[in-house]
Amino acid sequence: MLFMREIAGHGQIVRTLLNAVLNERVAHAYLFAGPEGVGKATTALAFARALLCARPAAGDACGECRECRQVEHANHPDFNYVRPGGSSIKIEQVREIQRKVTFCSYQGGRKVYLIEQAETMTAEAVNCLLKTLEEPPGGTVFIMLSAFPQALPPTILSRCQQYIFKPIPGHELTSSLIKLRGLAREEARLLAAFSGGSMGKALAYATGSFQKERAAASGLAAALREAGVLEALEMAEKLSKARENILNLLEMLICWYRDILIWRETGEERLLFSPDQVATVKREAGHYETGRLVEAIETIEEIKNKIYGNANTRLALEALFLRLAGGINGARTDRGG
Ligand SMILES: [Zn+2]
Repeated sequence: MLFMREIAGHGQIVRTLLNAVLNERVAHAYLFAGPEGVGKATTALAFARALLCARPAAGDACGECRECRQVEHANHPDFNYVRPGGSSIKIEQVREIQRKVTFCSYQGGRKVYLIEQAETMTAEAVNCLLKTLEEPPGGTVFIMLSAFPQALPPTILSRCQQYIFKPIPGHELTSSLIKLRGLAREEARLLAAFSGGSMGKALAYATGSFQKERAAASGLAAALREAGVLEALEMAEKLSKARENILNLLEMLICWYRDILIWRETGEERLLFSPDQVATVKREAGHYETGRLVEAIETIEEIKNKIYGNANTRLALEALFLRLAGGINGARTDRGG
């Protein structure tokens, strides 16, 4: 669990939140908005610990008091973590929050409610939460997280102090990976390039899944290049079974096509996300036309957002693979000999 002062890439937000704690100007409700994996939850946890700490220094948690240890071990009685139960946050969960809010805090300090994927609240749950947000008892702090804040009603948004979490710039991610995981610069740069500004993803890649996932993406691209209708549909069915993995795979696929495109256009190895794969990239570049690659990247982006937005994964993948399959769309125009 990180301290606020250790959080990378969101300096302005961290400073504002630390000042709020320091100057006792904490709002009743916060919304941390931004794509998955950029650090919303990490920041929210660090902020919650700072809010509950008995001896905060410069607005940040001390890490040593009883309260800090309880937050760290997820057993602080005044810290409540709310996640969707299944696909949504249901009214029963919000009623439970309401019930707790009306009591005094157990340990005499603040009460903190961290609501993950807030946009999944049902309409009833939203109405119920609004009542609490309209007249929040003193010392109660809601921190809501959402990758789709546009799906939250304006009545909720207007009652929250909103912070937009943007993807972390590549160079900051690279130095953080070197500092936090002791990676060599080249490897850190590679993982940063592929993680799309997400520290969570970069750290996950750093544990060793990266090479395997990238190989899966380049393998998929090669298979699609040759695929006809039946093969494309088969691949869609097979891959649709793991929604979480598929989003990662599609992001990897975008990076892969991007490298092939960059190589075709510039022939510059230093511009590649995968400079260690230059031989394969070079070989693949001969199989595509620039226009097809641009189209492929745009199409994957579009389908990825549909899957994020809970479209039927299998249908979305079928549509994507049918559009990418070279055997149907004649991508093999300039294969050469
Ligand atoms: Zn403390």
